[in-house]
Formats: sequence, structure tokens, C-alpha cells
Amino acid sequence: MLIEIRELEDHALEFEEQIAPGVIDFGREVRQTAHLASSGRAQLVQEHYGKHHVINDIRLSGRFSTKVELACARCLEPIAREVAKQFDLLYRPLGADAGREELSVTAVEAEVGYYEGSGLLLEDVLREQLLLALPLKAICREDCQGLCSHCGRNLNLEECTCREAVDDPRWSALKEIREKLEP
Ligand SMILES: [Zn+2]
Ligand SMILES: [Zn+2]
Repeated sequence: MLIEIRELEDHALEFEEQIAPGVIDFGREVRQTAHLASSGRAQLVQEHYGKHHVINDIRLSGRFSTKVELACARCLEPIAREVAKQFDLLYRPLGADAGREELSVTAVEAEVGYYEGSGLLLEDVLREQLLLALPLKAICREDCQGLCSHCGRNLNLEECTCREAVDDPRWSALKEIREKLEP
């Protein structure tokens, strides 16, 4: 859904969207598994500079919720998560702040982003907000054993002998002997 400046000049916009999985590309790491429900309001915030210079900002506030699947950072198994977030954002035209030292008060209070051209794609905002709401590294459970760095087996599901070989006391005994033998 494109939130157009032209329309906002007329009136504020209330939206209520249901976005099916697959419509927004969240990248390879995140899979949307349920409809994403979002509602909110977009309105125009005009900044006047002098008599003739006006900057059209878009203030976008609302909320969304959905379900996603992420890969565990240790064992790579999928983790199901519910995500919900509220947002209150200000979008300025790209380039509006070029060479300007200070932002206006409204810009400082809200989170600030930039839009390009005739408006702002709601889907782009939701993608960014959802990714921000997720942890950088999700783990399936506190004590996840992860994958063996030698053989790649999932150590939550099965054991492997790689670690034993490394930690085996017989090997360290051998190592000691070898160290003693070395001149
Ligand atoms: Zn895990
Ligand atoms: Zn192993």
C-alpha cells in the first residue's frame, strides 16, 4: 500500500491491512508464517521554511502483529515466534536534511526515516519494523547445544565422538609424554 503525499495533503489516512506471507520479503533468515495484521494512521506534517519552502513529512503511527520462524543461531533449527510492535515514525523526503545541522523538534521526538518520490510504501515500513523487533541472535532454548563444529551434527539430537577425541584424557596423557620427550 502506497501512502501518497498527494492524498495526505487532502486528509489523514487510517489504514487496516492484512498482509499474507510472501508479500513482504524478510530475507532468508526470517519466514512469515501467519497473516501480518497492521493498523494505524498516516498524516502529513509540513515544515515551513520561509514563505515558499515547505517540507512534507509523513508521520506514521500504528501497530502490527504476526508470527515468524527464525533459525536458531546455534543449531539452525526453526524457532516459532510471535512478533508485535507499536511504532510512531516520521518520514522525511530523501535529501531534506542534506547540509542541515539541526532537525526540527518533531523530527527528534519520533524515529526518523526517509521516503523517496511521491510517497511511502507501508510494506517497506513493516519490513523494517518487524526486523527491528526481532533479536539479532535467537536461540531455540537456553541450553541449546548447537552443531558440532567438526562434524556438523545437531548435538541436541545426537551425540558425536569429535569432542571426546579432543578432550579424551588418554590423549592429554599422550601429549604430556610427548612434551617430555621433546628436547
Ligand atoms: Zn538451537
Ligand atoms: Zn562431531
